[in-house]
Amino acid sequence: MQRRQFIQHGGIAGILAAGSAPAFAQNAPVKWRLASSYPKTLDTLIGAVERASRTVAELTNNRFQIQVFGPGEIVPALQVLDAVQNGTVEAGHSASYFYIGKDPAFGFGTAVPFGMNTRQQNAWLYLGGGIELLNEFYKKYGVLSFPVGNTGAQMGGWFRKEIKTVADLKGLKMRIGGLGGMVLSKLGVIPQQIGGGDLYAALEKGVIDSAEWVAPYDDERLGLQKIAKYYYYPGWWEGSATLNLWVNQKPWNALPKEFQQVLTFAAAEANQWMTAKYDFGNPQALKRLVATGTQLRAFSRPIMEASYKAANEMYDEFNAKSPDFRKIHDNYMKFRDEQILWSRVCEEGFDNFMAYASQLKK
Ligand code: CA
Repeated sequence: MQRRQFIQHGGIAGILAAGSAPAFAQNAPVKWRLASSYPKTLDTLIGAVERASRTVAELTNNRFQIQVFGPGEIVPALQVLDAVQNGTVEAGHSASYFYIGKDPAFGFGTAVPFGMNTRQQNAWLYLGGGIELLNEFYKKYGVLSFPVGNTGAQMGGWFRKEIKTVADLKGLKMRIGGLGGMVLSKLGVIPQQIGGGDLYAALEKGVIDSAEWVAPYDDERLGLQKIAKYYYYPGWWEGSATLNLWVNQKPWNALPKEFQQVLTFAAAEANQWMTAKYDFGNPQALKRLVATGTQLRAFSRPIMEASYKAANEMYDEFNAKSPDFRKIHDNYMKFRDEQILWSRVCEEGFDNFMAYASQLKK
């Protein structure tokens, strides 16, 4: 019997009575919960995953719904990976480098010191085999990962005192995530891992002397400029930073192929949106910060070079210890070096001239 006739004759009760309940249940919306590491006030970081969730709902006529929860609503900010892994939630949104305590290879999913810029990173992820390589690693944790945003190059953070020499770093308590913190610890910094929501209070109470977060647009919202005057650049530990959408393998495998494709598309669209949103918001935020007393400072060449040397020493140590780290590291760094070879020829020459030209009288 045709389905339409069947419904006309028996209605819902008829379908259920005739044992067609499974077909009916298939049409019930798929509802997922997503735990994010980022507070709702940061409308670009968590905004990208909220955007992906809206895209998914719109493209499926609400047949696939992903509800986004902020830190502390289901799990604390830095336990998102665990929550996805153990199935507390179907999906998570975080930065993989928060989890380097489990394995330093988690650094590559978001950012590693002196790594790739945004464009290079996306070329590696989407076409250079990066996504596949990372997912091979994440499989051990039962999760699948999608890039869902990139912040662009980040600032080096807020300092109460000027940092002029490598010696000035000694004993400095700094909020800094990921492998950048490990590199700085080789130069005497005491790195602290603190979620965005708790950062202002930690800096205000003097629990930390300095803090890096993202870039002007977000940093201004956290209010860090009210406590520390010196704003350094560049954040060499995050020449770009990819945010991760993690999905537990089991609910992923249970999704219809169409929903899998929609989610993959929505994450990729949000990945591009985030970079555009930061590039849109950062210039005005920077102007406001400088107008209200923020002092911009560049890390000195000796600090940059000492950090670069320390980063390479750290990579040698991890490569010797972790086959997972080595595998991703070798692939990633080879790709980075090839990208730099190309960008030096063209893009960099253009960018440098335009930076110079913008200072000339028009
Ligand atoms: Ca950062």
